[in-house]
Amino acid sequence: MNEDVAKILYHESTILSRLDELAHQITEDYSDKEFTVISILNGSFIFMADLLRRIQLPLQVDCWSVSSYHGTKSSGSINFRQHEVADVSNRHVLLLDDILDSGLTLSTIKSKLINEKNAKSVKSCVLLCKNVERKAEVEADYVGFRISNEFVVGYGLDYNEQYRNLSYIGVLKEKVYKKQLLS
Ligand code: 5GP
Ligand code: MG
Repeated sequence: MNEDVAKILYHESTILSRLDELAHQITEDYSDKEFTVISILNGSFIFMADLLRRIQLPLQVDCWSVSSYHGTKSSGSINFRQHEVADVSNRHVLLLDDILDSGLTLSTIKSKLINEKNAKSVKSCVLLCKNVERKAEVEADYVGFRISNEFVVGYGLDYNEQYRNLSYIGVLKEKVYKKQLLS
C-alpha cells in the first residue's frame, strides 16, 4: 500500500465485480437505445475503460475535460478545459464521472447537454457517491459505491495530480494535505 494512504476502501477486484453489475444493468437499460457515453476527465479515465469494456452494446464515446477541485476542496466553479464535444443532438447520453460530491459538476454538465446540445436524455453513472449535502440538486442514476465524507484517491482519482495510478481506492492521510497547506 502507498505510504500516503491511510486505508484502502476498495481493492481492484471489488471494484471490477461491482462494474460487472453496473455494466449488466446499463446493458439492459440501453438495449433498445442508440447512445453516447461522455466521460468527464481526468478522474474517470480508468473507470471508463473498465466499465465500457463490460457493456455489451454498440455505443459512441467522447470525453469532456473539466475541473473543479483545488487540492481537497471543491473550488465551487467548473472550469471547462475544452468546449466542443461530439454532436449529441437527439441522442441518449450516459455521463460518467469518478465521484459525486457537491453535485456542481454533474448538474452543470447535465444542463449544458440538455439545453445547449439538445440531448434526447441524460443519465449519469458515478463510481463513487459521497454521502454529503449537495450544493446542486442532482443525483446519479447508477452508483458504484456510496462513501462517507473522506478525501479518496486512486483508480483515476488524484490529489494534485498524484495517485491516479493506484489500482485501489483509498483514503489519503490527512498529513499529506495538511503538510502542503503549511508549506
Ligand atoms: P462535485 O462537483 O460533485 O463537487 O465534485 C466532483 C468532482 O470533484 C469529481 O469529479 C472529482 O474530480 C472531485 N472530487 C470530489 N471528491 C473527491 C475526493 O474525495 N477525491 C478526489 N480525488 N476528487 C474528488
Ligand atoms: Mg473529476
